[in-house]
Amino acid sequence: MKIVVLKFGGTSVGSIERIKKVASIIQRYLKKKYKVIVVSSAMSGVTNDLIKKSQKLSKNFNSSEYDVLVSSGEQISCALISGRLNSLGFKSRSWLGWQVPIITEGDYKKSRIIKIFKNNIIKYIRSGGIPVITGFQGINSDQRITTLERGGSDASAIMLAKFFNAEKCIIFTDVKGVFTTDPNTLHKAKKIEKISYEEMLEMASLGAKVMQPASIQDARLNRINVVVKSSFKNKPGTLITKKKNISINRIITGVSFTKNDSKITLLGVVDKPGVAASIFEPLSMNAINVDMVVQNISADGRHTDLTFTIKSEDIKKTEKLLRNNKKIKFQNILLTRNVSKVSIIGVGMITTPGVTYRMFKALSKQKINIQVISTSEIKISVLIDKRHVKRAVKALHEEFKLEK
Ligand code: ADP
Ligand code: ASP
Ligand code: MG
Repeated sequence: MKIVVLKFGGTSVGSIERIKKVASIIQRYLKKKYKVIVVSSAMSGVTNDLIKKSQKLSKNFNSSEYDVLVSSGEQISCALISGRLNSLGFKSRSWLGWQVPIITEGDYKKSRIIKIFKNNIIKYIRSGGIPVITGFQGINSDQRITTLERGGSDASAIMLAKFFNAEKCIIFTDVKGVFTTDPNTLHKAKKIEKISYEEMLEMASLGAKVMQPASIQDARLNRINVVVKSSFKNKPGTLITKKKNISINRIITGVSFTKNDSKITLLGVVDKPGVAASIFEPLSMNAINVDMVVQNISADGRHTDLTFTIKSEDIKKTEKLLRNNKKIKFQNILLTRNVSKVSIIGVGMITTPGVTYRMFKALSKQKINIQVISTSEIKISVLIDKRHVKRAVKALHEEFKLEK
């Protein structure tokens, strides 16, 4: 059986007109003799609205009820798609995560799919039906509904492709593919024809919202080729695949950036063994994600300054935890909102010297001050004032000739 998984994101199912369009895209694949499995996200804006409602009720909304709540948007879009297909004369029905069932493991809000039961869906496909499955959700061993983190319908699609041994997994979205940087920020951004899992994972983790980072890990582990393309225009998209399938040599593949980071500096921290662990332990216990970290050399041998970044929404909680932490002593705490991390990503930098210098030079020409730096084998990130992000992205895009 030649199976294709077609996943539609929020904007792609964002209105009645878009739902009609989705049905016509599905027909395109039926005509090519594919058996189609559809996965849909919620209509654009719906998940955000549900999250806001929970926040209005409580700062600590029960996390399993949160998952029941925020997963509900997908039920609406899937019913609309199936209903539309029915009205066009096709056999189709919606499937909620628990009905498949799609089994997940891990904490609420950020569960991961570990198994998908196939029998019912396979029977249905064999009988000529088109299953339309809710993305973003599953069920855990307590028989409770779970969700897969924001953007998690991408992971649903990739895991469905894995368990059903699909020939293709196509992610339909509102841009023509994966670009060298967010095309809605820089119009000169160029569509990438093929990108490796490793680079896509870095780009996504460093802010390129087009694919959910966890979903790319799933794709990489299971060697699933993923195509990202537009549901608006039928044009070739981007293939996310293993390194071996990519022949083009680029130094830098893309530029990513974050939008809501904050920086915290602890001044005059008493410098003794174990102090960093004492600072970060309560943060990790409270699920606060610490990103870039720098510690200065202690000038007097007793005190040091420590800087790190977190998501802006965690800033109040983090400050409270630091101030109430009896295990650490510091002279002052500085909080800076509105910083952004801008990163260049590319496997080519492993073998090309001078990339760091070129990045810093390009930013300094723009008089953009670098606050924190972090690097890995295939990426270099800098923390800058959020106001300069667009200019920084443009300068780096030009420096590495990404528009060519
Ligand atoms: P969907 O609802 O289809 O899942 P998302 O909003 O999650 O869509 O992701 C698509 C968006 O990702 C685009 O509209 C674009 O603004 C953003 N984006 C950020 N970085 C990139 C990039 N490098 N390439 C393509 N799109 C990007
Ligand atoms: N609807 C969910 C979200 O907004 C899942 C997704 O879009 O993939 O995060
Ligand atoms: Mg998405």
